[in-house]
Amino acid sequence: MQTTSEILTALQKVFPQEKLKTDVECCVRYSSDRTELSSTSAAAVFFPDNNEDVIALVKLANELGFCIVPSGGRTGLSGGSCTVQHEVVVSLERMNRIIAYDDVDNVVHCQAGVITQNLQQYAEQKGVFYPVDFASSGSSQLGGNVATNAGGVHVMHYGMTRQQVVGLVVVTGEGKLLKFDKGLRKNNAGYDLKQLFIGSEGTLGIVTEVLLQFVKKPAKLSLLSGFDSFEKLLEFYFDLRGRVNVYAAEFYTAFCEAKVLSRFEIKSPLVKKCPFSLLVEFEDTEIATAMVSELIEKYQPIKSVVAVNQSQQKSLWAVRENISDALTTQLLLKNDIAVRPSLLSRFLTECASDLRNLSADLQLAVFGHLGDGNIHFNVVVEKNVVRTDQKFIEKMKKAIAGNLLVKLEKYHGSISAEHGIGLLKTDLLAKNESEEILGYMKQLKMVFDPKGVLNPGKVF
Ligand SMILES: Cc1cc2nc3c(=O)[nH]c(=O)nc-3n(C[C@H](O)[C@H](O)[C@H](O)COP(=O)(O)OP(=O)(O)OC[C@H]3O[C@@H](n4cnc5c(N)ncnc54)[C@H](O)[C@@H]3O)c2cc1C
Repeated sequence: MQTTSEILTALQKVFPQEKLKTDVECCVRYSSDRTELSSTSAAAVFFPDNNEDVIALVKLANELGFCIVPSGGRTGLSGGSCTVQHEVVVSLERMNRIIAYDDVDNVVHCQAGVITQNLQQYAEQKGVFYPVDFASSGSSQLGGNVATNAGGVHVMHYGMTRQQVVGLVVVTGEGKLLKFDKGLRKNNAGYDLKQLFIGSEGTLGIVTEVLLQFVKKPAKLSLLSGFDSFEKLLEFYFDLRGRVNVYAAEFYTAFCEAKVLSRFEIKSPLVKKCPFSLLVEFEDTEIATAMVSELIEKYQPIKSVVAVNQSQQKSLWAVRENISDALTTQLLLKNDIAVRPSLLSRFLTECASDLRNLSADLQLAVFGHLGDGNIHFNVVVEKNVVRTDQKFIEKMKKAIAGNLLVKLEKYHGSISAEHGIGLLKTDLLAKNESEEILGYMKQLKMVFDPKGVLNPGKVF
């Protein structure tokens, strides 16, 4: 077993200084994602320019026995790109070229370091649409989106990143280059191995190129409606989605909105305080608009606003897009779960009651992607005990996680709808998944990364 300094010396012999950074500032910056769960800093940060660089690094890792953490925009919320044992971080940020665009088949071929929002803007310029969108699109990268199978606000209509991917190029944990780059919508020639890398959180391979399918740009309008009960909000939404094309359906509570308004210079678009807000994007047609007016008349929300231009649209979405950042202080627990939308009301009522029984100091801050039942389930401590009473915090975290797991089992839900497992939920996965399924997952890891050089400690 070589020491870290011996490994660095070996790497410095192979790679020039501009590709391999070892200064403390850089190593600390690239050692964590939004969770800040890293327990060590990176030994070095490697910035490849091409596939050959990535292959060379992975082969060296196998030979010398060091580990690698693949890193995208580090916007992850599960600790997937955090370092835990002085690994070498490989950042794809210099591989940020859009390689080719086929405007007949609407397929774009990109390097993995392209920022998600840059691809959205590129699609816009070409008069088409890239539907994967979420609040961190301005920093996340396509490789990170593939590795986490990122979702976002349009999943209910267009699916997750997986549904947009028509090709990948990957360097496996053994350093082999796998090219699934035909860009085909249909390809049933044997096992579709590329699917295994989507959502694998950098544990099976490093994604270096991505081929994605653009879609026709939809004409859509945004509607924000406030309701006095969650049940009424759901009734309105279920009725709406049965009648018109809905591209996005998000919800948040007055508690989440208050946190955003107190932290950022954002105004409430509804003006009145509404216990529950529903934000939808629906098709911009005369029939759909008439239908929405009819439903507003029928369900009588406290207040409704429709955005007809881009600036109104932006202000309607401002609260929703800033909730994650607004909740970071006094946050006790962050979960990203899914249950079927039809079961959400019962599920959340029972979770709120569990929480009240634990402590009066705890507040449920729920919001998220109602359309596909993906709820960001956050627990906030209202009093400032986060820093002072560690014993209380640990006890509560354990109890809340235990209660949540029981409820998710009861309602056949998922412990991770879109943020993955990373470091954060390894315990939950072990408890939530059967031994048989976990066994096959571990065997897959052995197939693509037999020496375990990629992203140690993540997922399992
Ligand atoms: C405010 C906010 C809102 C968010 N909203 C959503 C949302 O609505 N939906 C959603 O799905 N996510 C959301 N996220 C989470 C996050 O943005 C996504 O998971 C995103 O896809 C991560 O991309 P990244 O490039 O930042 O990856 P990173 O955070 O850098 O990495 C994530 C994982 O992917 C691996 N990885 C990164 N690049 C590669 C690569 N090239 N090859 C192999 N593995 C790689 C890492 O090792 C890690 O395991 C949100 C995050 C924030 C901060």
